[in-house]
Order: sequence, then structure tokens, then C-alpha cells
Amino acid sequence: MPDIIEHLKKGTFEEQYWIPAHNDRRESSLFRSNKKFIRDECGSPCWVCGSLEQREVHHIFEWSLWNALDATKVTNILNAIEFYDDDYTSKATEADKLRAEIRRVTAEKPIVDTPDDIRNLVVFCRKHHRLKHTGIHTMTFPIWLSMAATPIKNAILSREQMLAAMERIRHIDEELAALAENNYTPHRL
Ligand SMILES: [Zn+2]
Repeated sequence: MPDIIEHLKKGTFEEQYWIPAHNDRRESSLFRSNKKFIRDECGSPCWVCGSLEQREVHHIFEWSLWNALDATKVTNILNAIEFYDDDYTSKATEADKLRAEIRRVTAEKPIVDTPDDIRNLVVFCRKHHRLKHTGIHTMTFPIWLSMAATPIKNAILSREQMLAAMERIRHIDEELAALAENNYTPHRL
């Protein structure tokens, strides 16, 4: 047995970064067609939780930072993380179609040279994209990366659990507030 039991860790961070000169953000036709293809035509679920609700398409490497990036390094990192592995693609309603397109683009253009390339796009539900404490835009990379490496089945902590700590705390706060107001109903959690 481990020496330290499962527990909550809470922290605060602030970030600052420089953004290179870039064009006005406009939805390119490539982004529009890839978004439609991945999310709507292939039925790709949220990469984190597998949900098909409120799905959004996320740029893995930020659009606004793209001009400062080395395309070969970007490609190597995307290949290393392998967002479109069999585990994920098997959950898409059109798994073979999705895999075939990734293979086709990779054969045609080994290096990812635009942020709107399908290999730089991934589907997240709103909760795992932007919401506080659970979205990829609202947490540090070490935590997100560990969450991404949890197995889909037989996990000690599921991806949801790893990201759910603050929601649990909010529920507990609500329970305590109800208790303080003499309005407590057992088993609300
Ligand atoms: Zn999700």
C-alpha cells in the first residue's frame, strides 16, 4: 500500500507570455472543413471524457502563437502525444474514416505546417475545453498530461476523477452551507 492516501491538492497559478505578431483571427476554410469532418462527419467524442455533448474543436498548438513555432518540433510533439491513437479513434462513430484521413494527410504532408491541420485539432466538450478547473485552458500542463495518460479502463483514478476535485469541494461547500442553514438533507452528494 502507498504511504500517502488519495488526497486533494489545491494551488493557484498566474501566467504571462508574449504573443508574436499575427493576422486577425479568422476561421479559415481548412479549419471549418476539418472541424465539420472530425466532429460532425466522424462523430469524434470529447478526447477526455468521451461525451458527445457540447463538443468544441481545440487547436492543440495555439493559433496565436503559431508564427513563433518550429513546424518540425510541433510535428514531433503531436506524434509523441498521439491524440489520434486507436484508443481514441475507436470511440468515433466513423473510426475508419477518421483514421484514413489522418493517414492520408500524414502521407501527403509529413510536417504539420498550419495550425488548422487536422493533426493539430482535437475535440473536447465545453467542460474539458474551457470551464474553470476542468478545461485544458484552465489548468497546468503537468496535470493535464497526467490526466491524458490515465487508462480508459481499470484506472485507479479516472480522467474525470482527476479533474473533479474542485467540483467535489463545491458540493461539500454547498452541503456545509445547507447544514448551517438547518436545511440539510442527507445523501445529497
Ligand atoms: Zn469532456
